[in-house]
Amino acid sequence: MAYGVALDLGTSGYRSHLVDLSKNGKIVSTSITMRHPLPSANIMDHLHFWMENGSEVGHSIIAETVDHLIELHGAKPQEIERLAVCGNPAQLSMFENIEIRDLAFAGQSLINRLNIKVPERRAHVIKAEELGLKSVKATADVRIPPSIRHEIGADALAMIIKTKLLDKKETCMVTDYGTNAEMGLYHNGELYTGSAAAGPAMEGQSIEFGMLAAPEAISDLSIGPDGMWYNYVLDEHLHPRKAALVGPRNNQVQILENIKARGITGTGVVAAVAVGLETGIIKLPQIDTPDHVMHLMNGISFTEHDLKEAGKAMGAIRAGHRTLIHDVGIDDAEVKTMYLAGASGTYVDPIKAQTVGLVPRVLERTVQAGNTSLMMAYDILVDDNGLDHMQDVANSIASKHIMFATSKVFEDHYVNELAYWDEGMPFEMFNRMLQAGGYKPLPDIVRPKETLRIVSSDIPVIGDRGLKTLEDVGVYLIGSFEGCIGCKKCEKDCPERALKVFPMGDKKFKVRIATEFCLGTACKKCETVCPESVYQFNKLAVVRRGDDQ
Ligand code: SF4
Ligand code: SF4
Repeated sequence: MAYGVALDLGTSGYRSHLVDLSKNGKIVSTSITMRHPLPSANIMDHLHFWMENGSEVGHSIIAETVDHLIELHGAKPQEIERLAVCGNPAQLSMFENIEIRDLAFAGQSLINRLNIKVPERRAHVIKAEELGLKSVKATADVRIPPSIRHEIGADALAMIIKTKLLDKKETCMVTDYGTNAEMGLYHNGELYTGSAAAGPAMEGQSIEFGMLAAPEAISDLSIGPDGMWYNYVLDEHLHPRKAALVGPRNNQVQILENIKARGITGTGVVAAVAVGLETGIIKLPQIDTPDHVMHLMNGISFTEHDLKEAGKAMGAIRAGHRTLIHDVGIDDAEVKTMYLAGASGTYVDPIKAQTVGLVPRVLERTVQAGNTSLMMAYDILVDDNGLDHMQDVANSIASKHIMFATSKVFEDHYVNELAYWDEGMPFEMFNRMLQAGGYKPLPDIVRPKETLRIVSSDIPVIGDRGLKTLEDVGVYLIGSFEGCIGCKKCEKDCPERALKVFPMGDKKFKVRIATEFCLGTACKKCETVCPESVYQFNKLAVVRRGDDQ
């Protein structure tokens, strides 16, 4: 048997295909994680954790998780001869354990001052043993795709190649709706890109019942009879099924199909906000129901806190789109087609996405493209010329990257968005504020004439052996601190219940953190609440499940 693995290293989780290389690249099975393994709430947290706790700690968490994910396919390591990956520059650099500080710091002068040598990030091949991977042959080739520039990664390139963006004569936009929403505007042969730190709501995280796009996730909602809403749930093939009718105000439930929901994913969040606004149940910034939540099936609800988180993400993405449109100097109506990529971009109802501001308000068509990053990893796995082709495309792109983090235009738009979503500023006032700042107001919505979906699910082919989910990445951070009295305050105050304190005998104690649940640098509550001031988050070491006793 000769197998290969295609691996998408996303900001919110990893996805992989086991591919039979002896059978024309047939996809055998698919495995996914439910979260990113590093302690984090977003990409900046990943980078901070990496810099504070050391690259060795960060890299061993990633390598262990990749091993666990590949082991789920059930192939023997000596049968796996090749690996191909795709992801943004931060994820690929952490996977390779190379310099990432140039991605963490905005501004060339700081990079120069710190004497940081920026990696080339061109297409190249390394051996699995250099990464410390145990789930594949030590001598297996690992194909690493190029970035366009250091801030425009292989995932953006994948989105551009798979949507054939560069062949278009018209002005169009593309967005991968993830934690870090990568976006591009293609106009007159030039590509303008940016990435908005949308936060995890678009991936169903930081939402009370949120989860990634996986079986049993509510992926869509629509208006049904008698004030009830249809709840759509992903089945084991990641296809949405009309599962139940639920009264969002009174929690009345009518089951339509024998499929359970255990959470709501990013596209479900978009649908909840769009349908909530449309039906008047959401009156920003509140949910106008007796208990201030919208009820969904199986006891799942959407809260006002969730609405706040969703508004932040939607506002950041709209602010990003408008910054690109403003900086390129075009009118909103000049954008003809919007390509939606990533899991959220595949399952989201484009009309609802337009209602909440995730796609431009005036459009001729939307095209839903799927998980282009995993598709690209597959292409470079099975095609020996795939890496060279990607590098050629990367070399040919005339591009300009707009750093939203330092853009005044983005800041002005985002502040306005927060006032709209968070404080309930009326839409007319929203537009007046834009005009007062010298910007064009948002036009009235013109619905697209065409909504095309080029894939049936974000991972169109799962493989005969099915989809396997890594519910627990099985990697822990552990440590024991001199002077710890075992009071468990760190455990009790952990908002994610990621931490446990164990006695080790002799009045000594050990803390253990499940990395995938931990919020990392953004939180560190465990450290700040320690009454003895002995807790040191950056002194924790990595162990895999079973080695933690
Ligand atoms: S309290 Fe500590 S262990 Fe818990 S989420 Fe925050 S940083 Fe992670
Ligand atoms: S809060 Fe501090 S003293 Fe208490 S168990 Fe945690 S590390 Fe030990």
